[in-house]
Amino acid sequence: MNFEILVATNNEHKLKEIRSILSPHKITVYGFKDLNIKEGEVTEDGKTYFENALIKAKSAARATKIPIIADDSGLEVVALNNAPGLYSARFAKECGGHNKAMRKIIDEIKGKSQDARFVCDIVLINVEDKPLLFEGITTGRIAKSPEGENGFGYDPIFICDDLNKNYALLTEEEKNEVSHRAKALKKLLTYLRINGYAH
Ligand code: IMP
Repeated sequence: MNFEILVATNNEHKLKEIRSILSPHKITVYGFKDLNIKEGEVTEDGKTYFENALIKAKSAARATKIPIIADDSGLEVVALNNAPGLYSARFAKECGGHNKAMRKIIDEIKGKSQDARFVCDIVLINVEDKPLLFEGITTGRIAKSPEGENGFGYDPIFICDDLNKNYALLTEEEKNEVSHRAKALKKLLTYLRINGYAH
């Protein structure tokens, strides 16, 4: 029987990325809709990605006992002291959307280091007594202007070192090779395979 897992996210892009990486390994990936779970916005008031991911996972655990993963991620820009980081989603909201937030970042770091990275922490609960953490980091730089239509969020301004291309110019398959989320998921997958949950 397939290992079943719930992804505690309302972000359909994330669910799709996670499903396409895990489902080839005999893992059935559910979103809230698949299990008829009504999960509203959760207050992400943790001080780290790990704490926020755990808040999301624990909130979903009120509805089901099956294994749950939740992720928290952010874009860290070196010249902005690693902002927006943990507050990436909030920053975009406050700017009036990702397009405006991306413009603001580009303007604020003109003439400074363009270095940046995406961080993703994935937490797995309901498998062991303690929550397990898997982290993925993808380094890169901020583009001079947004480019590309694929993906979501800050994808058009992030040029990843692995492929030297904007995330938003990558195909789904390419992003799933190099993204911060893919790297965290691959560590999760290794754990699940070593422990006989996945193939
Ligand atoms: P979260 O859903 O609380 O983890 O919010 C993370 C925020 O970071 C998202 O809303 C995006 O703004 C940004 N982000 C995280 N991962 C990605 C990605 O793969 N591409 C672009 N932006 C991302």
